[in-house]
Amino acid sequence: MIEKEKLISELEEELEMEYQTTLERATPAQLHFALGRWASGALYSRWQGCRHSHANRKRAYYLSAEFLMGRLVFSNLYNMGVLDEVRAILADKGVDLACLEEVEDAALGNGGLGRLAACYLDSAATHNLPLDGYGIRYQYGLFKQAIVNGEQRESADDWQRQGDPWSLRCEADAVTVEFGDQTVNAVPYDMAVVGYGEGSVNTLRLWQAEAVEPFDFGLFNAQKYEEALRQKNEAENISRVLYPNDDTEAGKILRLKQQYFFTSASLKDILRRYKAVYGDDFSKFADSYAIQLNDTHPVIAIPELLRLLIDNERMEFNEAFEIAQKVFSYTNHTIMPEAMETWSAGLMAGVAPRVLEIIRLINERLIRELNARGLTRGQVLDYLILARGRVHMARLAVYVSHKTNGVARIHTEILKSHTLREWYQLYPERFVNKTNGITQRRWLGLCNPALASMITELLGSDRWITDLSELAGLRRYADDTAVLDRLIRIKQENKRRLCEHIKRHDGISLNPEFLFDIQVKRLHEYKRQLLNALSIIDIYFGIKEGRIENFTPTAFLFGAKAAPGYYRAKGIIKLIGEIARVVDSDPGVKNLLSVAFVQNYNVSYAELLMPAADVSEQISTAGTEASGTGNMKLALNGAVTLGTYDGANIEIVEQAGEENNYIFGLRVEEIDKLRPSYNPRQLYESNPRIRRVLDTLIDGTFDDGGTGVFQDLYDSLLKGASWHAPDQYFLLADFESYLDAKLRVNRDYRDRYGFARKCLLNIAGCGMFSSDRAIKEYADEIWGIADRA
Ligand SMILES: *Cc1c(COP(=O)(O)O)cnc(C)c1O
Repeated sequence: MIEKEKLISELEEELEMEYQTTLERATPAQLHFALGRWASGALYSRWQGCRHSHANRKRAYYLSAEFLMGRLVFSNLYNMGVLDEVRAILADKGVDLACLEEVEDAALGNGGLGRLAACYLDSAATHNLPLDGYGIRYQYGLFKQAIVNGEQRESADDWQRQGDPWSLRCEADAVTVEFGDQTVNAVPYDMAVVGYGEGSVNTLRLWQAEAVEPFDFGLFNAQKYEEALRQKNEAENISRVLYPNDDTEAGKILRLKQQYFFTSASLKDILRRYKAVYGDDFSKFADSYAIQLNDTHPVIAIPELLRLLIDNERMEFNEAFEIAQKVFSYTNHTIMPEAMETWSAGLMAGVAPRVLEIIRLINERLIRELNARGLTRGQVLDYLILARGRVHMARLAVYVSHKTNGVARIHTEILKSHTLREWYQLYPERFVNKTNGITQRRWLGLCNPALASMITELLGSDRWITDLSELAGLRRYADDTAVLDRLIRIKQENKRRLCEHIKRHDGISLNPEFLFDIQVKRLHEYKRQLLNALSIIDIYFGIKEGRIENFTPTAFLFGAKAAPGYYRAKGIIKLIGEIARVVDSDPGVKNLLSVAFVQNYNVSYAELLMPAADVSEQISTAGTEASGTGNMKLALNGAVTLGTYDGANIEIVEQAGEENNYIFGLRVEEIDKLRPSYNPRQLYESNPRIRRVLDTLIDGTFDDGGTGVFQDLYDSLLKGASWHAPDQYFLLADFESYLDAKLRVNRDYRDRYGFARKCLLNIAGCGMFSSDRAIKEYADEIWGIADRA
């Protein structure tokens, strides 16, 4: 219980001090700041207490270039168990907590990989596991997107503009990071990661780059002033933006500097903490810490740890190597071998010369080991960490770590059989699977309160909040029409809530009585938003021609950001906008079809979309999506999956029942078999529906504003380009089976109880997709930090 009077007086005090305003007059941003300060204060002693009680346990650190935290205020209050109370207390004073929905997300990440990191922190804290995060405090997060005339416009995400009450600047823990041509300060900002209920409060420590010399505005010597200003800017540039444009050499250097910056600072932090306890005796180091590398962005931490141990601690190379191998483990998120990160050795020599030397030593050790195992010269080439002037980060990660994991069962199998095949042959014991998960606190408890309370009521307890496997208990209600009725009404209300938001935020009117078919994720050709778009064109013609009868009115919703330099992805956004325009202006289909592309898809928007979906579009080409987590969020909120046998879709339908989902398309083996002889033009020529749909890209049906981008989309499917074969993602090969499945969902939806039954069984099958399950597997099987409490 929080004391009402105390909360009010503390908020009033903060508002008076910071803004000379009152609770009644405060803007949402001001209220957010005051509430954040209050919550941070309320957490402070618990936070310090956890540092103390965890002091003698092995700790794990999660190094990630991205943490897509989203809005913190609601989830922190929820995990603190005071959200409803605070809401009620403020409502008493005439303040609606919902006004904080306009507070910006902390969008320090792109998509799935960054959101995974955020879910893992939440789960570790909730289950009292000593896991802290390390990353970069970007001044600007992922760009904000507006859709203007159907086109994406980007603007800077100045997320700290209205203050950041959740971070604590820890000047005393600042360290310096040295590059070949520059030395900067790394100043940590700590965010409390609040576990739910009895959980712990862990830390996300984000580093901000600053000049070593504090900038003196009093400098009046013009030359000195200029020089100081230049150094300040060059230092601050390092943590300025998430994923600087790397088309240019300067952009590439900046990216590598970012990676080195946060990993070097984090290791120095860890070493300082270790030495405070053990001094120069490093014999306990590997038993004290586990470090997880989230994809290859932080892999430069490996040679950096060796450098710090060898150069600063006077350790022998072999000893340092063995420590690193025991401490590090690596999560791979990539399937396509050509997408693996490599760096030019020349560039690395400029950024971190000594690190490159260490990498050479590691590479020589690798060669000796492979020779000793009797590999031929030709075989050795496939393994080289340093080859043809490039540093291969994934190879470095697998070699100098004790575990490499994929993020869904099929993905790990593909790593073993294709992407990292030769490494699997060498070290089979290092490869493990850790299927991704999501936190049910944010992705059910917080975002779908009506469904959450129904579940609690039906299960007779809220244990699912910390043990999602409890959801299996819902299976017994699959044929209970009273329960299914409630489920339908909850979805209906969530759709209404979403429609209101879309109207306000995007100016688009949708009918909440429609079936809601949703595809939300980053825009990429492999995710095949274009296939979805083409299918809508086919459905449009089908309805007009009378080929499709009794079509259940459907709203097709998209949300996605395209990388600013990704021309084709932007063309796909434009095409979806054009389809929306044509459909909307056709009175013959208007009451059957709507198409909407919502702006600025982010975590907060996802929290509104997931609970309102009937159908979850997960249609990546088999063998391209490592796992996906959007698929889990949608299933947990009771959508059926319309998807391919790819990533975690496979495990979702295995748990929820294939009969309750809509799986279509070629499987990985079939794609591999088809690839050499695949001829999309033949499909175009022999299938009139495909031809008609594709021709709309070039016959003037849709207007690309004279840019030629629709012609490019057409060519990408039928002609290919210098860098890829025609239809490299097999849209046309899957076209018919996709449309069959899509129309099957549409028919099945009319049986409202039959469909709600499928939805309920999907929810019931989501137990294993909690990040709680995933993080415990990491803790037990990779880090060895299982809870002893
Ligand atoms: C979950 C999530 C993602 C990942 O979605 P996928 O469908 O798995 O690609 C991306 N962005 C946001 C904002 C998310 O919440």
